[in-house]
Amino acid sequence: MPGKYVYAFGDGKADGSAKMKKELGGKGANLAEMTNIGIPVPPGFTISTAACLEYQKNGASPADLAPEIELAMAQLEKRMGLGFGDASKPLLVSVRSGAAVSMPGMMDTILNLGLNDETVKGLAAQADERFAWDCYRRFVQMYGDVVLGVDKHEMEEHIAQRKKERGATLDTELAAEDWKELTGVFKKAIEAKSGAAFPTNPAAQLRGAVEAVFRSWKNPRAVTYRRLNRIPDDLGTAVNVQAMVFGNMGNDCATGVAFTRNPATGEKAFFGEWLENAQGEDVVAGTRTPHPVSRQGGGEGSLEARMPAAYARLLEVQAGLEKHYRDMQDIEFTIQHGDLFMLQTRTGKRTGPAAVRMAVEMVDEGLITTQEAVQRVDANALEQLLKPVFKPEGLTRAKEEGRHLATGLNAGPGAASGKLTFTAERAVELARSGPVVLVRIETSPEDIDGMASAQGILTARGGATSHAALVARQMGKPCIVGCGSLAISYASGTLTAGGRTLREGDDISIDGTTGEVYSGAIDTVSSEIKRILVEKRMMPEDSRMYGWYSRLMGWADGFRKLGVRANSDTPHHSEAAVALGAQGIGHSRPEHMFFGDERMRSFRQMILAGDEAGRRAALEELIPHQREDFRGIFEAMGDRPVTIRLLDPPLHEFLPHEEKQQREMAGELGVSVEEVKLRVARLKEMNPMLGHRGCRLGITHPEIYEMQVRAIMEAACDVEEKGGKPQPEIMIPLVGEILEYVYLEERTHATCRQVLEKRGRKIPYLVGTMIEVPRACLTADRIAERAEFFSFGTNDLTQMTLGLSRDDAGFLPEYVEKGILKADPFQTIDVVGVGRMVKLAVEEGRRANPKLKIGVCGEHGGDADSVKFFHQAGLDYVSCSPDRLPTARLAAAQAALAG
Ligand code: ADP
Ligand code: MG
Ligand code: MG
Repeated sequence: MPGKYVYAFGDGKADGSAKMKKELGGKGANLAEMTNIGIPVPPGFTISTAACLEYQKNGASPADLAPEIELAMAQLEKRMGLGFGDASKPLLVSVRSGAAVSMPGMMDTILNLGLNDETVKGLAAQADERFAWDCYRRFVQMYGDVVLGVDKHEMEEHIAQRKKERGATLDTELAAEDWKELTGVFKKAIEAKSGAAFPTNPAAQLRGAVEAVFRSWKNPRAVTYRRLNRIPDDLGTAVNVQAMVFGNMGNDCATGVAFTRNPATGEKAFFGEWLENAQGEDVVAGTRTPHPVSRQGGGEGSLEARMPAAYARLLEVQAGLEKHYRDMQDIEFTIQHGDLFMLQTRTGKRTGPAAVRMAVEMVDEGLITTQEAVQRVDANALEQLLKPVFKPEGLTRAKEEGRHLATGLNAGPGAASGKLTFTAERAVELARSGPVVLVRIETSPEDIDGMASAQGILTARGGATSHAALVARQMGKPCIVGCGSLAISYASGTLTAGGRTLREGDDISIDGTTGEVYSGAIDTVSSEIKRILVEKRMMPEDSRMYGWYSRLMGWADGFRKLGVRANSDTPHHSEAAVALGAQGIGHSRPEHMFFGDERMRSFRQMILAGDEAGRRAALEELIPHQREDFRGIFEAMGDRPVTIRLLDPPLHEFLPHEEKQQREMAGELGVSVEEVKLRVARLKEMNPMLGHRGCRLGITHPEIYEMQVRAIMEAACDVEEKGGKPQPEIMIPLVGEILEYVYLEERTHATCRQVLEKRGRKIPYLVGTMIEVPRACLTADRIAERAEFFSFGTNDLTQMTLGLSRDDAGFLPEYVEKGILKADPFQTIDVVGVGRMVKLAVEEGRRANPKLKIGVCGEHGGDADSVKFFHQAGLDYVSCSPDRLPTARLAAAQAALAG
């Protein structure tokens, strides 16, 4: 029977279960669950989150808590046959925090609680002096750090000093005497620093530790993390108190961490690391090098080779856990004198490719359904499958040559290799002569240009929401952050890690998908999916990854309701888009085709012309080019719809702003430089984002749109004559007032009719508008009476709704860091504000015109969270850049399955 706050586990039964994450936290709920299903877990109890919340409210533990803990401890003593504070056979416990969602920044674990100068003797009697004093000094170190607030790294310096004196390199080479003395040194140092006496009474130690866990819920790191990850503040954390088992009691003892499948590749192979005669997080601390658990990859140093019986049991347990939880598990274990104990299990993090492979293979194994497979894969992580990777031979060589330097947080997928630089300025310079990797302790807004020039970004500090991570993701660059084992010295211009020192200009390689850093160059290649689908340089049957990918995408397409189109300006990109699943083009910008010499000249001639006749003559020259471009896109897209947006940017964007180019232009067009300069000056705008552009340009220069519409329809006729089925959709940008639309729509229809009549064809086409000015949303019902489709241009709609220019929003990462914005609104749609605009326009637009086709063509169309919102808002399709298509398809399916 659980108490009000305390839930026990042990001896094959527990008061809680995996369903009780809210009450017991993730760790506690899973310790209970493992106990219930007969997996060996050291007994203990979980103090519920409710106690933590009471503590937060009243600044003190609830009155009932102390007696409940006492009772639970008494039961634990009985189960273990040991006594808490008993000098002859002491019971030791660990105290661990654990909230409902895993949360870095919460309190670190305290091991071996219950030790003092008396009980340490009883512990020594169970094994030996060295072991007992090693446990004691660890306890003092952790308790000092976590409860009394004295950084444990200070203690590490004392240890380093002692090792130096002894001529030792490893902690394991220090003797009982050393640890005994160090324990005394630690205590003194802690007492001096904290001004508090180190508690000797085990019950007092426990009370102190439990309350420290409660308090850690409010520590700044935890608070920031919750804000950034939208975790409510009123969850509270549970506290797990658990009998110690010892992985450091001799050479038949060990500790380790493992995954039930490979988290990098997804291969169904037990994967992990272990250390003999070690405790707690020694495996991840990096002070000793752990060995792989399995013989395959670990050879004679593996757990399988060294402790076959314990390994066999572990193998059985991990398989059972995966089957029970029906997902890949990340587990922590300890072996005491050959007996295996599980200390934690949770759903394991994985790379995008691993997620896809696992999901599909688990369907084949009958473990999960296709719906679950589709729901389980992180849609944003699919982007990783399209990013460049290291050439396998190069990677193998780097590993064999011991060039692995460090592992950090994988913050931006893809592989990059280049010259190392430490400053943004040097990155910009060096990038002119080849790829560079920018390496910083951390990045700040001044580094933006360097980041943009670099092939990849690596930082020693920062988490998944740091400046570097946010900016890299926005730029689509490979990025690793929080790589704490890199020693970077700007002063000496060196980076030291993994026993190597690199200088500026040396080659360095990073894999932002896995977080691995290597010294030296490693060649990169396009991903298999790209080589097969886009470059067509590999056969589908030669890639297992492609097989898993295409099956998952097939299931996703079967579930989704939302259409998926691509933003593409060229026939080449359109082909790639179709290969990646585009059902149409949602946004094509024809002015991108002006950037050829001859075309640019004609366009500039048009801008300089003094009258309409002159402009028409110049535009006439452009028609054949535009027609040819559109033909290419229609051909690539077959019978799929193609939305073409008429000219949008202000005219000055097409004129040179520097004297030298202005002279060249004047020469080319046979006019005076003064004339060019005058025109540039006349077209200059204070705020081009809100200036003379889009439909406003169409209204003052109707001949431009007329030329574009003619080119579109003539291209459609050409393609149809050759047996194609083009589906043009002509989109008028920046409309905010129905009469703007009416004016241009009438002219568009007139031009279309003219072309079709002349060519004697009947081609179905649509005319509609981009919705990107807030006023268009507010008057959507009126616009929808005329428009046949809406396409939300969420980039501009976000800029204008927030009153924030995207190009001047370099400060946004700080907003996100400070918790003022939850996400960059240019990446993930601002549901509350911009989303409300969208919903309003959809509702009112559909009410006025039930046949209105509605899509979205901003960057948001490829962002998983935004896609989910667009599904709920009832859009017909989203459109995004080709590389985001798989993400959009999967997110759309997930939204449909979520109902
Ligand atoms: P984290 O949440 O950071 O993973 P844990 O609470 O899981 O922290 O503790 C870290 C490690 O401490 C565990 O993986 C395990 O090795 C060790 N540990 C915790 N409790 C015990 C225990 N009762 N006996 C032995 N080792 C323990
Ligand atoms: Mg930890
Ligand atoms: Mg753990």
